[in-house]
Amino acid sequence: MAKAFGDEIYQAAKVCGVPDSLRTSELNAWPEKKIRWALAGALPNVSDADLKTCYEHAWGLWSSVCGIEPEYASNYKTAHVLLTTANLGGPMGVLADSHVVPEGLPDNDALQAIQRYDTTEPWHAKLTAPPSRKISLPVVMCHELGHAIGLSHIADGNLLQPSYDPRIDRPQAGDIAEAVKRYGKPKEAAGKKFTELFRKSFASLGTLVVGWEELD
Ligand SMILES: [Zn+2]
Repeated sequence: MAKAFGDEIYQAAKVCGVPDSLRTSELNAWPEKKIRWALAGALPNVSDADLKTCYEHAWGLWSSVCGIEPEYASNYKTAHVLLTTANLGGPMGVLADSHVVPEGLPDNDALQAIQRYDTTEPWHAKLTAPPSRKISLPVVMCHELGHAIGLSHIADGNLLQPSYDPRIDRPQAGDIAEAVKRYGKPKEAAGKKFTELFRKSFASLGTLVVGWEELD
């Protein structure tokens, strides 16, 4: 039994309750890029502030690789994706699960996708690498948000692989390709590219560059 609490078991923990057999297409997507999220739950030994910081970080990782524009909703009733917590069967089982956005929603307000995070896991609710025998909450959140925006499980080596791996802490090439199919490229990247070009062309006009960045 000692092995059951060894690190290798943590590596092999199943990330979520979304079935591996589920296959989604690019039609599984929110029709509008502004996706509101909120929190309606708490995890033991995790402060509300840390919970929010981790979730915000996970949303930010997705919006940095595809066109979604996540927005915090102070009224959870208006959220399109809602974080909740529940006992999902004890430590090292299912860590979390999530609704997957279906095909053909008329608008984002037509659905509230519920995510559930397990109240019994030894969560590491920080943006740093998790210590031994703790589960990185932001990594699991980032994975689950992939489902919420329409992705199913994909090949190993991606964030959306079925198993938890704390080393894969953000969307990988396969995840990004799936997200871009649904939402296009990130807005910010386009802005950054322009800023870089501008910087190159007008390197001597430092103050102007700052002005342009502020306008954007
Ligand atoms: Zn999953």
